[in-house]
Amino acid sequence: MPLTEIQTRIDTAAERAGRAPGAVTLIAVSKRQPDDRVQAVLEQGHRVFGENQVQEAARKWPGFRDRFDGVQLHLIGPLQTNKTRQAMDLFDAIHALDRPKLAATLARLAQDRGICPDLFIQVNTGEEPQKAGILPGDADAFIAEARALDLPVRGLMCIPPVDEEPSLHFALLARIAERNGLTGLSMGMSGDFETAVALGATHVRVGSAIFGERISKDRA
Ligand SMILES: *Cc1c(COP(=O)(O)O)cnc(C)c1O
Repeated sequence: MPLTEIQTRIDTAAERAGRAPGAVTLIAVSKRQPDDRVQAVLEQGHRVFGENQVQEAARKWPGFRDRFDGVQLHLIGPLQTNKTRQAMDLFDAIHALDRPKLAATLARLAQDRGICPDLFIQVNTGEEPQKAGILPGDADAFIAEARALDLPVRGLMCIPPVDEEPSLHFALLARIAERNGLTGLSMGMSGDFETAVALGATHVRVGSAIFGERISKDRA
């Protein structure tokens, strides 16, 4: 689907929900996409992209950044503690703050560097054992812990279970954010971004709807 059509659908959903135009940032998720497709979207003027792996982003983005000004890169996948420094060099925002150890490492490096990417705390709204994220019942305490470390926590992120109605998860995430005074909501993907916008998403993460099918994992 053309980028302009995705953007129009986002704007329409925002307007219907009575939200300000421009309230939603479209993160174009370029993970495991061929470079020519990513370049085409850059050439259309889009600058906000998401990757889910530090290594893949490190391979791909320095080159694009040399050729295109103003790229803003978001890490949307799990971050191993030993890659934290590299991730802080590459990314403008990290959407996968999901455990105390990572918070501590980010805080220590942020102190050294005097700068830290914007952070979103991932909440495992479906309480799925295989999925990363803070459990909803632990979220208030973890948000307080991250703030006590002086981390720039901008909001919350979730990935709803594939077989459940996403709106319940989006609404839960919005409630947790609201009661903690957080304004950022990273939620909504290709199949459900309009629902997410209706429920308050400030960042939608859309991959395949923009770029088409991804290259399979084993070839990436
Ligand atoms: C891959 C990915 C997306 C994009 O998924 P699409 O269905 O291709 O839009 C969004 N969020 C996360 C965390 C992802 O890993």
